[in-house]
Amino acid sequence: MQAKSYLTALDTVQKMYIDGQWVESSNGETRSVINPANGEVIGIVTEGGREDAQAAIRAARRAFDKDGWQESKARDRAALLYKIADLLEARIEEFASLDTLNNGKPLRESRYDVTDSVNQFRYYAGLCTKPHGVTYDVPDQIQAMVVREPIGVVGQIIPWNYPLVMATQKIAPAIAAGCTVVIKPAEQTPLSLIRLFEIIDEAGFPPGVVNLVLGAGETVGAELAESPLVDKVAFTGGTDTGIKIMKAAADTIKKVGLELGGKSPNIVFADADFETAVDYALFAIFANQGEVCSAGSRLLLEESLFDRFVPELVKRANHIKVGPGTDEESEMGPLITEEHMNRVLSYIEEGKKEGAALLCGGYRLTEEGMDQGFFVAPTIFSGTTPEMKIVQEEIFGPVLVIQTFKTEEEAIALANGTRYGLAGAVFTTDVAKAHRVIRKLRAGITWINTYHPTFNEAPWGGYKQSGIGRELGTFGFEEYLEIKQINVNLNVEPSGWFKKRQ
Ligand code: NAD
Repeated sequence: MQAKSYLTALDTVQKMYIDGQWVESSNGETRSVINPANGEVIGIVTEGGREDAQAAIRAARRAFDKDGWQESKARDRAALLYKIADLLEARIEEFASLDTLNNGKPLRESRYDVTDSVNQFRYYAGLCTKPHGVTYDVPDQIQAMVVREPIGVVGQIIPWNYPLVMATQKIAPAIAAGCTVVIKPAEQTPLSLIRLFEIIDEAGFPPGVVNLVLGAGETVGAELAESPLVDKVAFTGGTDTGIKIMKAAADTIKKVGLELGGKSPNIVFADADFETAVDYALFAIFANQGEVCSAGSRLLLEESLFDRFVPELVKRANHIKVGPGTDEESEMGPLITEEHMNRVLSYIEEGKKEGAALLCGGYRLTEEGMDQGFFVAPTIFSGTTPEMKIVQEEIFGPVLVIQTFKTEEEAIALANGTRYGLAGAVFTTDVAKAHRVIRKLRAGITWINTYHPTFNEAPWGGYKQSGIGRELGTFGFEEYLEIKQINVNLNVEPSGWFKKRQ
């Protein structure tokens, strides 16, 4: 298998990158990294602890406060980011293969992710040299202005579903803004980020500016959220973990950026273009095995369309080609771990117990070639009620639940009826209705007559319990900047507010 050759450099213990050095953890522990398509060990990584995270944070603090990174010039930072983009672009196939082997996603998706990462470095390289100050016309002989300055040391915590692209969309704006970084990948998927640090090392940053720590969320991740030396923590992951991080960050009034879970509605009206709506209903939930925070995991269907739409949807779901991501023919890969697969399967059991109708899938796939991996068949439920667990909770797998509605108002009420507010879509040929409904969705990322396309130029983030703040675009850049007002006296003489007395 061609993709496997990219693992050859991983036959020794993979290290962390702290203060410009490749290091093993201070406690000597290691962790095995698994290929979810067959359960095989594909790498051994050093397993850091709190002391290692503290060492990385101290290095980042020193690099920012004392070694001059705080005063670094945007032009120089841009040059470094462009260099990373070029080096990464030359290795797209290698990075895509690593993400596929480690995460399981089909190669065509990994290639897309790595290309996105390259673009993120270029986008922020370009953005950071552009003007971003403001002046105000104020009274009293004062020149008032605003400058933006880097927020300082940032801790970044990454999930396993997009191992590279979630990391680069945090690293690139942070560096562009002039921050220093300590980043932690998910325990399950460290391989592509470790390799990105080869490129970061080659690009030539001063020691301590960008640091990689490996280890568990409860130790290494928690240290990033708690440390008084960290100014901001940027987290992508589950809402329940986000709650813990926000609490841990509270004691030091740390800035928090949270990109959390979702249970996003995909609303299809009877007047929608039929073929397009069916096609995107599949793509909305089954892309990336359903392990997508913004997945369209709830299909809200106008009742009159049900009998025509659902048989076609189920037929096409049954025909999705599931298999190892390294097989170019595979359209859907395995779930990330056995534990996660069992979690998804237990949601399916719960759905059946709650009385929903299972229309397809609902089981682990164990055909030859998949028997050692963590594959789940594309699954669709109908006959749901809004309070069911499978309707309310994020399953994070290939499980679609169908809800039906009769009126626009009912569709909106159902769409907004969970604790989440990450994404949502509307399919209709009525332009005014599309806009009316989209404006009523309490969600940060929305689509009309499509699902999923988003771009590095536009802000990414959620309403309600799907998060705080935005990543990407100019909004994502702002999140790594502090705002300082400067008031300059243009008439340097005493104010006379207090009388001068002898
Ligand atoms: P997770 O919350 O279990 O873990 C994410 C990261 O947090 C990992 O690196 C983990 O080690 C770390 N972590 C765990 N406990 C921690 C703690 N107490 N303190 C600090 N760090 C801790 O999430 P996951 O299972 O890796 O990812 C799936 C979740 O991520 C889903 O809920 C999904 O919706 C969400 N997600 C959201 C977005 C978004 O942009 N909104 C994108 C991708 C994934």
